[in-house]
Amino acid sequence: MDIKLKISTIILTFLAMVMPTQRILSQNPSADVGLRTVVIDPGHGGKDPGTAGPDRKNDEKHIVLKISRLLGEKIKKEYPEVKVVYTRNGDTFPKLTDRIRIAQDNNADLFISIHCNANAKKTVSGSSAHILSRKDTRNPDRDLFDENLELTKLENSVIEFEDDQSSYTEDSAADQILNSLLFHANFDHSLLFAQLIVDNLAVNPFHKWGKGIHQNDFHLLKKMTCPAVLVETAFLSNPNERQLLVSPKWQEEISQRLFNAFKEYKTRYDATVSPASEAQISSEPSSEYYGIQIMGLGRLLKDNDPALKGLTVTPVKATDSSVYKYIYGTYQTGEAAKEALPAVRKKFPEAFVVKVIGTKVEIYK
Ligand SMILES: [Zn+2]
Repeated sequence: MDIKLKISTIILTFLAMVMPTQRILSQNPSADVGLRTVVIDPGHGGKDPGTAGPDRKNDEKHIVLKISRLLGEKIKKEYPEVKVVYTRNGDTFPKLTDRIRIAQDNNADLFISIHCNANAKKTVSGSSAHILSRKDTRNPDRDLFDENLELTKLENSVIEFEDDQSSYTEDSAADQILNSLLFHANFDHSLLFAQLIVDNLAVNPFHKWGKGIHQNDFHLLKKMTCPAVLVETAFLSNPNERQLLVSPKWQEEISQRLFNAFKEYKTRYDATVSPASEAQISSEPSSEYYGIQIMGLGRLLKDNDPALKGLTVTPVKATDSSVYKYIYGTYQTGEAAKEALPAVRKKFPEAFVVKVIGTKVEIYK
């Protein structure tokens, strides 16, 4: 049995490992390719007002909801084929897990969380974008909305790209997999989007706050199975920026700048997904074999994507999951796959053997 296996990319979650999977049966290889779903997450809401505004009507939760809606409308208008999903579209308080689940349930290709910043020093100002850090796992239960703590830490935050796997030793096994497997494939895209946001947003009268892009340990971003960026539009605690943030004119302007970043990101993102990969996936709908799952991701990668580290794999996706499982190799027996496992683990330490049965992927022990 020599199945020609090609690749794409994926986000792996433990949940996905136990969910029934199915090969992608793509009638039109190009139909599902590209950025199709964006989840917009207006920060806070309901009982959580975020940073206090000059009056109750202009607390952070209200401002970010307005900006989020304006951004969503612009996306819908220019890209009617793109599904825009809000984590909240009113003064409600979705829990962190709800926000994550909304992104996963909708197979989000991109997640953008919109906030206003705050600092005890009223003079502090500027815009910034935040992406997942792979460093700090000391307090995985810390909530995204505990912002004062985060923002204090952010002052010292710098962009660091570490390859040190030992930094995961305190994580649970599940987190290890999420961190290392999800991280690689989404990081570049998150960073690109963050960069575009800062480039567009941090221009007159706004400027870059700190380095403009910060890596954080926000729990929200950590669990995302797609590229995700948290935007701090400007400082609500700064009198000058507050004046802009509460003004409809500037809310419109900020949303336009975010939209410009989205537009450029989408153009670039769409160029990186390969229709050929989709076509390959449908070629073996009823095969049964053993393989090695190297990762799970929420999108397809090009065959030569660095995240795959040179391995040729095949993506397998559950119909009700946002996760593509990337399977390396085709083996007649589970034992044969196990023999190949050590070599694969040199590149993907969390890889494991699976049995692929038609539309299902089962963990093989
Ligand atoms: Zn906030």
